[in-house]
Amino acid sequence: MSGREPIAVVVAGAFGKMGRTVVEMIEQTPHFRLVGIVDPKGRKLEGVPTYPSAGAALSQGADVFVDFTTPEVVYGHARAAIDHGVRPVIGTTGLTPEEIADLSARAGTRRLGGVIAPNFALGAVLMMRMVALLARYFPYAEIIELHHENKRDAPSGTAIVTAAAIARARRSAGDSRAWEPVPAVSMTQEAESPSRGLVHDGVPIHSVRLPGLVAHQTVLFGGVGETLTLRHDTSARTAFMPGLRLAIEKAMTLDRLVVGLENVLD
Ligand code: NAP
Repeated sequence: MSGREPIAVVVAGAFGKMGRTVVEMIEQTPHFRLVGIVDPKGRKLEGVPTYPSAGAALSQGADVFVDFTTPEVVYGHARAAIDHGVRPVIGTTGLTPEEIADLSARAGTRRLGGVIAPNFALGAVLMMRMVALLARYFPYAEIIELHHENKRDAPSGTAIVTAAAIARARRSAGDSRAWEPVPAVSMTQEAESPSRGLVHDGVPIHSVRLPGLVAHQTVLFGGVGETLTLRHDTSARTAFMPGLRLAIEKAMTLDRLVVGLENVLD
């Protein structure tokens, strides 16, 4: 990227657990420039203007809008970014499928690039690819996701996307699958006890919230007389930075909103 203007980035949520690491990463990346932060409480960062709202920051102009805030405000922020022609890169989880569809349509109309990724960690993305393979061969799958005690949404965005990937693989395997459909695959929430987890896309998800954890996910596959376990652990928030850096760079060349880092990686 040498010889080019740095990518001008606005960050919302700069004083949160993720936001602090994101600000550090942007400041350490020579071809990124932090041009503003959004903070309704007016907190300051040296040398960077603070704006009280996303709209106020975006009307100053920027290339990319990075959001690590809360499920309550993220949709409004992402929509404001698209309306201002600023590429959204959204890490905040909790957007509904309807909100994601609406944001994708709005970005598509403007041919604006952007990325929504519930998990920027490379290992989590690779887990998603492996899940799609294993779901073709193992009829049972359950997800256990574990996060720090302050995580607001449950199940995690990553667990929801993982369940969807398993469901997609099951559907596309069709008659070529290595197993006969079993009740667990089509079970519904109503038919099962709550202690069997929240069933999403036919896959039970179990959520754990405890201090001392960052972000962890185990996917257990069951077959005839055998199980196979995939596990990913994020022990520091720096794990999300290489993927986020890549998403910011890719957002500059995309002409649509891409959902999931796995769809951005070559
Ligand atoms: P956090 O520590 O609670 O940080 C959220 C920050 O957003 C807080 O500083 C909060 O301000 C701020 N905020 C709230 N409303 C705002 C608004 N209207 N404008 C600007 N800032 C606002 O949470 P976190 O652990 O950093 O996580 C943030 C989000 O990222 C969550 O949705 C989490 O699930 C997600 N996440 C995603 C990934 C990924 O790879 N995609 C990885 C980890 C986490 P106050 O300090 O005033 O409350």
